[in-house]
Amino acid sequence: MSTHVPQTDPKAGYLDHQAEIDTAIHRTLESGWYILGAEVDAFEQAFSTYIGCRHAIGVGNGTDALELALRACDVGVGDLVFTVSHTAVATVAATELVGATPVLVDIDPLTYTMDPNSLEAALSCSLEGAPKAIIPVHLYGHPANMTAILDLARRHNLYVIEDCAQSHGAVLDDRITGAWGDIAAFSFYPTKNLSALGDGGMVVTDDPSLADSVRSLQQYGWRERYVSELPGGNSRLDELQAAILRVKLTYLEAENTRRRKLAQMYTMYLADTSLILPASGPNVTHVYHQYTICLPQRDALRSHLKQAEIGTLIHYPIPIHLQPAYQDRLTQVVPLPHTERISQQILSLPMFPQMTEAQVQRVCQAINHFFRQ
Ligand SMILES: *Cc1c(COP(=O)(O)O)cnc(C)c1O
Repeated sequence: MSTHVPQTDPKAGYLDHQAEIDTAIHRTLESGWYILGAEVDAFEQAFSTYIGCRHAIGVGNGTDALELALRACDVGVGDLVFTVSHTAVATVAATELVGATPVLVDIDPLTYTMDPNSLEAALSCSLEGAPKAIIPVHLYGHPANMTAILDLARRHNLYVIEDCAQSHGAVLDDRITGAWGDIAAFSFYPTKNLSALGDGGMVVTDDPSLADSVRSLQQYGWRERYVSELPGGNSRLDELQAAILRVKLTYLEAENTRRRKLAQMYTMYLADTSLILPASGPNVTHVYHQYTICLPQRDALRSHLKQAEIGTLIHYPIPIHLQPAYQDRLTQVVPLPHTERISQQILSLPMFPQMTEAQVQRVCQAINHFFRQ
């Protein structure tokens, strides 16, 4: 038997619910309706109920969800969007896709999410362009500091668009992520906490006019079929993926609980190391999309684990403002010291619901061995 421990394992997520997923796929194939049918309808209903929002609109992927949310908020050329540099490139790419200018702020070094003080500093700079929106990212499954961010948004009259691609089910102060801002974007990429077996995304909002705009923009600006009232494109959640996601949504809470249990084990077995372990306050329900540790000897530990056949990943190795496509081009108004330091020091350990406790122990033994060397 292989002792290899993968960093993530989407196939295990399929096999875990194979019979139900296969039934859902066959039902969809036999229905003869493959675009925006009963499966997408039912999944949108189920997901909006889960988040506690009135509207959920299935779209092609998480990047499209962000782009459509921005467009619905009328963010475009000449507008400023405040977000973090420590995120998936999608967050910043979507901002540029609508023609807006991203303004990148620093993160809190304990939660790895947007630092409201850095945001406040950026908002007080005089910049060319009209401040329009803030995109907090609930990175690794830990909610951003929404109370402080919403307070700043209100004072500056800005939309808040939550990037929930890593936070399905994460809760802050008894409110689920996705229900804090004006509108939120989810991804169902195969490694996310709620995942399709392919691409998928969702926009959620309580605001009927924002929901209306997203529905129209996702399909050529149609309100009535074949009549484009706005110039739009095409971004639809696939009917087959919706059928799969309906099955998987019923297991999301149990799988998030499992992730928390695995995280608790990591935290216990790694307590005696000098690692900085993920933070989680009493008012937070972390969903551990990633269990990310931080240490100065990151690269050495990573190769040690690789030798032991343990997979790790770096989320993310290069801050957006230092990536070739963005370097020297983005408006940088505040220093980003935490973003730049932690990109050199972070490491995401194996984390997926089907991971065994023996596997967590094996990873921790290898890490403890590294520190005793
Ligand atoms: C995965 C991810 C996205 C993009 O989702 P896709 O479905 O891959 O387009 C956006 N933001 C964050 C933080 C992500 O992790």
